[in-house]
Amino acid sequence: MAKAKGDEVCSFCGRTVPHLFQGQDGSLICPDCIEAGHKMVQDMYAKQAQAQKMDLLSLNNLPKPQDIKNFLDQYVIGQDEAKRFLSVAVYNHYKRILQYDNSKHDDAYKNVEIEKSNIIMVGSTGTGKTLMARTIAKLLAVPFTIVDATVITEAGYVGEDVESLLVRLLQEAEYDVAKAERGIVFIDEIDKIARKGDNPSITRDVNGEGVQQALLKLLEGSIVNVPPKGGRKHPEQEFIKVNTQNILFICGGAFDGIERRIAQRLNTQVIGFDTQHKQHIDKKNLLQYIAPQDLKAFGLIPEIVGRLPILTYLEPLDRSALRSILIEPHNAITKQYQKLMAMDGITLTFTDEALDYIVDKAIEFKLGARGLRALVETIMMDYMFELPGQNKSELAITRELAQSKIEKANDLRLQNAV
Ligand code: ADP
Repeated sequence: MAKAKGDEVCSFCGRTVPHLFQGQDGSLICPDCIEAGHKMVQDMYAKQAQAQKMDLLSLNNLPKPQDIKNFLDQYVIGQDEAKRFLSVAVYNHYKRILQYDNSKHDDAYKNVEIEKSNIIMVGSTGTGKTLMARTIAKLLAVPFTIVDATVITEAGYVGEDVESLLVRLLQEAEYDVAKAERGIVFIDEIDKIARKGDNPSITRDVNGEGVQQALLKLLEGSIVNVPPKGGRKHPEQEFIKVNTQNILFICGGAFDGIERRIAQRLNTQVIGFDTQHKQHIDKKNLLQYIAPQDLKAFGLIPEIVGRLPILTYLEPLDRSALRSILIEPHNAITKQYQKLMAMDGITLTFTDEALDYIVDKAIEFKLGARGLRALVETIMMDYMFELPGQNKSELAITRELAQSKIEKANDLRLQNAV
């Protein structure tokens, strides 16, 4: 494409523009039209890619539960049990969507309706619940969004704005309601809307319960009026009706202190008829025994618990898991910093002792996996400031270097960094 001489008219928008580009047939195009055309082509490709993804929704092409788990394994360390539950749930979700396509199943089951099974994942903060949800989103051929249950409680009025949880899903589906209606929503921090008191008849926490009642409507499957722009700031907007019947809800929460309730239940269960059994309880990881009644004891209303029939848990992360998280996953924190440094021509390495030190500090500060990034960031900050532009090609982080940087940093600042 040759550059035109100037003061000529763009063949596309008709404007006189100083810088025009000329095609072989003599037609001219201005930079604005090139940009607009580029965007149109990109949009077209994006739509084609999305359409191809939706085409994958045939039983033969579906990622099988083991494929989904293998994919999760590349990003999330450990948590085998939760990964298996999630993989099966997502696979079944696809199958449930396909059940409406009559060509896809046997006549013998024509009248059998596969109902959805929403999921709840319980595990301390920083054990990988959100990471798991995000990773699944990369693989999915249905709209997916992550929302925070706490925004519902912030919405002044009891139970209002629960509909806003669906706004993001609609956006993900490009306002294609049918597409949104078969999407997946991850609701984080579900424990934060639990009723505060143990006994619902004595301690009525109306706010928590009201929010749960509203959420229940979504989980049960109902037609919800969704404000397309979200919130109540745009009263003039027309609602979009979304049926939540086939939307899969995956909930996650830390449920701090729920171990106490599990222990209480296990104690009362075993006393009197099975004293042998008591010895087998692994007191260090009580979450593995979690049961629906523990969620009720924590303050979720029974109807909500009933609508989340698949209950799974995440393991606490021990030293070796934390160490693996530092170096192994596709997006491992150390790999991210290595990439950052490599872009400045610097080879970054961490000695084994340095990695051990970082893990020790994360445990000492009770920061878990969330703290690993804050620690590595603190160690790397001075180098990231100083090294670019210098003629250095290598940086080895030893235990001594790591220690000096962490000790220099303010402990309080580090603890608040996550
Ligand atoms: P939460 O359980 O509170 O949702 P997140 O999934 O947000 O925790 O984890 C916070 C960060 O910690 C993640 O971005 C990730 O870097 C790291 N992380 C936590 N758990 C794991 C894990 N099991 N495998 C790999 N990284 C993890």
